[in-house]
Amino acid sequence: MRNYGRGWNQIVKDLEADLKRMAPGIESTGIKEGKFGDFLYYYDLNSVPPEKSEAVARRVNRAAEVALETCIECGELGRIRYVSSPQIEAHVYCDTHTPKDWKTL
Ligand SMILES: [Zn+2]
Repeated sequence: MRNYGRGWNQIVKDLEADLKRMAPGIESTGIKEGKFGDFLYYYDLNSVPPEKSEAVARRVNRAAEVALETCIECGELGRIRYVSSPQIEAHVYCDTHTPKDWKTL
């Protein structure tokens, strides 16, 4: 399942290219934007050789860090922006894509 904005397409592409090289049998089980605008990449731990598991986890974390500064709409430099009413909602947006009245974390 893929559920995120097109601004993160390149991050996913780069990540998956590296992961395929590091652990060719890796099986992704889901890629999505989390409730707090964060990047979540799930994979089957059994599809990664034990000696590669730490490196793979580090690479996934690095992608998540990059995503936190990448507008989910356009891929430009962004930050976490949020609104708290009527309910909390958060996404990484650049200045251009930040809706009016949204705050910067
Ligand atoms: Zn943007």
